[in-house]
Amino acid sequence: MSTSTPTTAIEPISVTELGARSILDSRGFPTLEVRGTLADGTELRAAAPAGASTGEHEAVELRDGGSAFSGRGVNVAITRLDDEIAPLITGRRWSSIDEVDGALAELDGTSGYRRLGANAVVAVSILATRAFAHAAGQPLHTWISTTTGADELLPVPHFNVLNGGAHAANALDFQEFMIAPVGAATEREAVDTGAEVYHVLRALVADRFGTAGLGDEGGFAPPLADPREALDLLVEAIVEAGRRPGTDDVAIALDPAANGFSLGDGRYRVGDELSRDQLVDYYLTLLDDYPIRSLEDGFAEDDGDGWTAMGEALRRPDGSWRVQTVGDDLYVTDPARIRAGAEKGWSDAVLIKPNQIGTVSQTFAAVATARELGMAAMVSHRSGETVDTFIADLVVGTGVGQIKSGAPARGERVAKYNRLTEIELDRPGLRYGLA
Ligand code: PEP
Ligand code: MG
Repeated sequence: MSTSTPTTAIEPISVTELGARSILDSRGFPTLEVRGTLADGTELRAAAPAGASTGEHEAVELRDGGSAFSGRGVNVAITRLDDEIAPLITGRRWSSIDEVDGALAELDGTSGYRRLGANAVVAVSILATRAFAHAAGQPLHTWISTTTGADELLPVPHFNVLNGGAHAANALDFQEFMIAPVGAATEREAVDTGAEVYHVLRALVADRFGTAGLGDEGGFAPPLADPREALDLLVEAIVEAGRRPGTDDVAIALDPAANGFSLGDGRYRVGDELSRDQLVDYYLTLLDDYPIRSLEDGFAEDDGDGWTAMGEALRRPDGSWRVQTVGDDLYVTDPARIRAGAEKGWSDAVLIKPNQIGTVSQTFAAVATARELGMAAMVSHRSGETVDTFIADLVVGTGVGQIKSGAPARGERVAKYNRLTEIELDRPGLRYGLA
């Protein structure tokens, strides 16, 4: 537990050994774990997560193909790491994360890290970030805050407690139904509130459906289809857990992940087939009826007209938004896409996933772009995860005030929430809440 004073001086790093192995992610598919040794003998690790409902423009994972693991092996990526990335990283001293990430991009030489694999690149970049924090004698979140110039902040967790879409086998068209304890006074209270609502929800689901089966992110995946049924269950669980459903106490957040129910040409299927305008109206009625604070990927990534229509419907005359409107697949953590979306009035918030863009310094740039444009940001896990807790330090150090890491259950999800409460213990007085 370091209490060192933040300093702006960046200590160079020297990695003497770097290697990778295949580990299993939370879906039981291979992913990369990178291990590095620093000049002082310190050993560091980092692991790559993997999405299922990925955006078209995301940085590209390198997968083996073939029949094993449905082609999802990472042996080719490991070989390229051994042959090319390791000699690069161990061959010299590095004085900034920008320098490391720039060299990785140059070595790769393609857009989206197609040659070396964004799964290898993101893990190496995270490991290098840990090395810089270690060299500076700072906790990772503090180093990130120092480096990005942001004020540290403990975020409001958005717990994905009901799963549908690409993350579950049920007929629910919307992917994620989250609860966000915005009214909690501390991270500890927020995490405990999320867990308590989750337990009540488990009993409600078991009682109603006779099953409490889970989706990929640890939320329940009962056999329901109508988003309103899911929202009613959430409200009931919040009330039964003794909290108030409301945007100032325990709020609801949705990630419909509309790519998953887009029929193309601006048409969608949510139960019935809906036009763009009908989908906007559908969201408006949900906002009228439920305490929803955040709506992510309400339209498909390639449906700019849909995003424009939704922006027009959700922006108030004073320029504020009726609900936080988040672009995930739409922006893929890419500063240029975020800027273009802001100019078109598509959203007022950005989802931040390091492996969508490939490196930590590009992730910092995405957060900086959002901040410059007056947009909010939410740091996010992927549906395929490991116990790596990098995003917990990332969200505190960038001070964006919001994270989603799945349900308050399952090791790979709670690793992040438990890291947040650990940071809170280490940093008494650090503020909890939205930015
Ligand atoms: C998401 O869509 O926000 C998400 C976390 O899912 P995935 O990791 O499958 O893209
Ligand atoms: Mg999403």
